[in-house]
Amino acid sequence: MRILVTNDDGAHAPALWALVRALRPLGELAVAVPDREQSGVGTSVTLLHPVFASRFGFAPVDVPTWVVEGTPADCVILGLGIPLIERPDLLVSGINQGANLGNDVLISGTVGAAMQGFFYGVPSIAISLSDVDSTHHDTAAAVAAALAGEVGGGLLDAAGNVLLNVNVPDLPVEELKGVEITHLGQRSYRDLVRSHVDRRGRQYYWIERGKPEWEMEAGSDIDALAGGRVSITPLRSDLASREHVSMLREVAPRLLDAVHAAAPTGPR
Ligand code: MN
Repeated sequence: MRILVTNDDGAHAPALWALVRALRPLGELAVAVPDREQSGVGTSVTLLHPVFASRFGFAPVDVPTWVVEGTPADCVILGLGIPLIERPDLLVSGINQGANLGNDVLISGTVGAAMQGFFYGVPSIAISLSDVDSTHHDTAAAVAAALAGEVGGGLLDAAGNVLLNVNVPDLPVEELKGVEITHLGQRSYRDLVRSHVDRRGRQYYWIERGKPEWEMEAGSDIDALAGGRVSITPLRSDLASREHVSMLREVAPRLLDAVHAAAPTGPR
């Protein structure tokens, strides 16, 4: 099979190369990664300036590797558009250092890259280790290789295209407590805004992620990871709330009346 690999941590992330080593026996690989850490950029695409990409000469594994002066989603678009690899069967994004759970999937560059692959109709896997200082890269790499093998064997063919968001506990493989198919849990950060003044008297701010707040709910990605289990959440991009669609449809005529009432009348 042909696999495009990306991440949001750049070419110098050791976990990237653990992933590449694990996937290489499965077929042909190409790697396209950002030239610097791009955590938190989500599905952001660079449209207002050119995107430079060059071959990376220091890859510790012998696979064609490009470094892209752009976002993880840019890496995927170039990877598929140049193309750096012909008609990939799979995109794998990771291995991120730090879980991507609940609302994180809308902010994470790791998941954002996989979402971009999904937009292009390529089966996509985003894979993250639980902690920012995780050391068990080989555990996540083995999970990625196992899933990639299953995808190559037709695992996802029956139900249409999907993105698998995978979170792996930072444990040796033999200490994993299981694999659980999950839904997104409720987890969000209270962002802290720290205010500073620079030497020229200009105000600037640091946005810091505070402690995440979550609800432990059985069946959620958060609960699985906390229990030492690999969490696999199948995702699509449709964020529409079905309940609200039917509820709001009933009041749509009234909303049009309200628009008319709010519109300025008389000469402008
Ligand atoms: Mn990252």
